[in-house]
Amino acid sequence: MRAQPKASHFINGRYVEDTAGAAIDCVYAASGEVIARLHEATDAIVEEALAAAKAAQPAWAALSGTERGRVLRRAADMIRAENRSLSELETMDTGKPLQETLVADATSGADALEYFGGLAGSLTGEHIPLPGGDWAYTIREALGVCVGIGAWNYPTQIACWKASPALACGNSMVFKPSETTPLSALRIAEILSEAGLPDGVFNVVQGRGAVGASLITDARVAKVSLTGSVPTGRKVYAAAAEGMRHVTMELGGKSPMVIFADADLDKAVSGAILGNFYSSGQVCSNGTRVYVERSVREAFVARLVERLKAGVVMGDPLDEAVTFGPMVSEAQMEIVLGYISQGIAEGAVVAHGGKRADRDGFFVEPTVFTGVTDDMTIAREEIFGPVLSVLDFDTEEEAIARSNDTVFGLAAGVFTQDFARAHRVVKAFEAGTCYINHYNAAPVEMPFGGSKLSGVGRENSKGAIENYSEMKAVYVGMGDVEAPF
Ligand code: NDP
Repeated sequence: MRAQPKASHFINGRYVEDTAGAAIDCVYAASGEVIARLHEATDAIVEEALAAAKAAQPAWAALSGTERGRVLRRAADMIRAENRSLSELETMDTGKPLQETLVADATSGADALEYFGGLAGSLTGEHIPLPGGDWAYTIREALGVCVGIGAWNYPTQIACWKASPALACGNSMVFKPSETTPLSALRIAEILSEAGLPDGVFNVVQGRGAVGASLITDARVAKVSLTGSVPTGRKVYAAAAEGMRHVTMELGGKSPMVIFADADLDKAVSGAILGNFYSSGQVCSNGTRVYVERSVREAFVARLVERLKAGVVMGDPLDEAVTFGPMVSEAQMEIVLGYISQGIAEGAVVAHGGKRADRDGFFVEPTVFTGVTDDMTIAREEIFGPVLSVLDFDTEEEAIARSNDTVFGLAAGVFTQDFARAHRVVKAFEAGTCYINHYNAAPVEMPFGGSKLSGVGRENSKGAIENYSEMKAVYVGMGDVEAPF
């Protein structure tokens, strides 16, 4: 098998296997070929990982931030040096085109390690002067053992986005990738170890939801960070609440993109492509409800379809000429095809695509629906595939109200050349991550996360530090202590 890792789990600085765990087959989505077979973590493996993380955390936290940061930055350099092989692994794991993974996955993970590695030395508390010469200070402390649980669309990036701020703050982590994409987190753990991370600080265990569930409820765990769907988020948040654990929830979305008639239409089309067809549409922040001002709707759809016809190249994602890959799995393909059928049944019109591609692998054609109304299933539910819905609107107020009429609040975008309008519209959006004349960029310096059902907390940026540390407050009495009796 061409992507078989050394073993299923990485614990305490080494690969660990326990074949008693149920088999997990890793399938190359472009062909259906099994490229690796791993085993789900047994209770013994889960115990080993949690014990290792618990034992390693105090010494890691006791290092200076600069020392911790040095390890993370060294790992970032190693990841960059290994970008091609990591990208090929990510492509085999997910089916995403190598053309994408070469620039978006390991590189984004390296950015996070470098950024939080750089911040680690400056994570401090504050001095608070008080009346009468008394004063207080705060100590920024690590939370302890954190659990990271990942989705399958950006496995390398998700592992690094969670590990980087957690480790910078002095926490340890047990990370469980999605069972669909188990490979790349193992290599990230190995690189961190080679970069000098002490054994046990970052551990990877494989498994399905039940393994994730068993990690969350363990008494040694202080925090859970999940990237996944809203239904899973509800379960994980509820389980974490039992032990009053900290959470970060990066969940699903059904984000709007509003295109006004004065927008640069080519830029807007590029935004719609980035926000619907990159990674074959398997991106949580995608702007899948594209509201286009009525007077430019036809021109917008015509240019979009023209660009898709000219630019979409399907094929083996390991071929760098390929621009559009398969769905991550057969199951995800069936979900997406089900939504397309439902869209057609509810009266939406297919302007482009609309079916499974006639080739091996789990390919779905990039699909554009017109004639979509707000109440249709395809306009309300997250599809997580290459399906774009075009809706038209007449006024700014209407576009804002309809954009916000959703339970989700992950992202939102606006295209216009009127900057006063752009800022007014993003102020009114009920979403955590907004874009003006761009879409889906996620630089590490910028907070990323959702409001409403799309999540709790933020990843990336200085803000993530608040989600992986807590403040201890110390009151210092300098004078007499007055008591009532
Ligand atoms: P799921 O919610 O199905 O799974 C997410 C992770 O949680 C997986 O590792 C899964 O394991 C695990 N899991 C499932 N049930 C439990 C449980 N009861 N307790 C603990 N862990 C559990 O999401 P997908 O993997 O299908 O990913 C797609 C979803 O992720 C979409 O909704 C998407 O929007 C969201 N997402 C959000 C992002 C964000 O940053 N906001 C970014 C990327 C994706 P297993 O895989 O074995 O089921």
